[in-house]
Amino acid sequence: MNPILELRNVQAGYGRIGVLHGVDLTVAPGQIVALLGPNGAGKTTLLRVAAGVHPSSGGGVFLAGRDTTRTSPRDLARLGICLIPEGRGIFPNLTVRENLLMMTFTGRSVDEVEEIACARFPILGKRMSQTAGTMSGGEQQMLALARGLATDPAVLMLDELSMGLAPLIVSELYEHVTEIARQGVAVLVVEQFATTVLHTADHAAVLVRGRIETEGPPDELSSELASLYLGSAS
Ligand code: ATP
Repeated sequence: MNPILELRNVQAGYGRIGVLHGVDLTVAPGQIVALLGPNGAGKTTLLRVAAGVHPSSGGGVFLAGRDTTRTSPRDLARLGICLIPEGRGIFPNLTVRENLLMMTFTGRSVDEVEEIACARFPILGKRMSQTAGTMSGGEQQMLALARGLATDPAVLMLDELSMGLAPLIVSELYEHVTEIARQGVAVLVVEQFATTVLHTADHAAVLVRGRIETEGPPDELSSELASLYLGSAS
């Protein structure tokens, strides 16, 4: 299937410091691509470039074949790009309902947004009046996913979904991610630690110091990962 998101030779950095040195990556509808790599490799920067919130200094980003390299984050969101940032994309001091209410900017009614959220994550239905930050970490990530899904994304990008969560909760969240992809959403997942996501992903790429070191089917990569991580620590 043709990719919906395509990064071609993407370069980016902060000031004069280069972080991404020519990254190619594609994600097709219904596919889950895992972008792995050690601390500081540039994974978050890559997601931010794809979402238009950080400028690239070279190369291009294409959405359904259209050059969106200079498109604003707002327009990219309208075109179906959704980034759930590291550290839970929610407002912890607001209630679950208020967090969902904000997503009505997409044109959906509040009832619709709540219905979609509760259909996928029934637990949120019981938490509507609860302050989001007082929920468990897993529930907060469910809320972040529900907020993302309210935008009806074509491309869902998740930054360290598993951060700080118990393995069982992470598996449960990734079951939801698999289900979301099954409905045709292209999913790009960034994780520093590979184990859980490797069971879920269709394709994995390893970013080290701003370059894709290796990529392929996850089961073929697992043995290479340990040495890559050790190799990049120096
Ligand atoms: P992590 O798992 O730690 O988030 P990462 O692979 O996502 O790592 P990035 O967050 O993209 O990596 O960071 C890549 C490099 O860019 C790091 O060296 C980081 O220190 C640097 N960096 C990130 N954000 C900024 C910023 N706002 N200003 C300057 N340098 C930054």
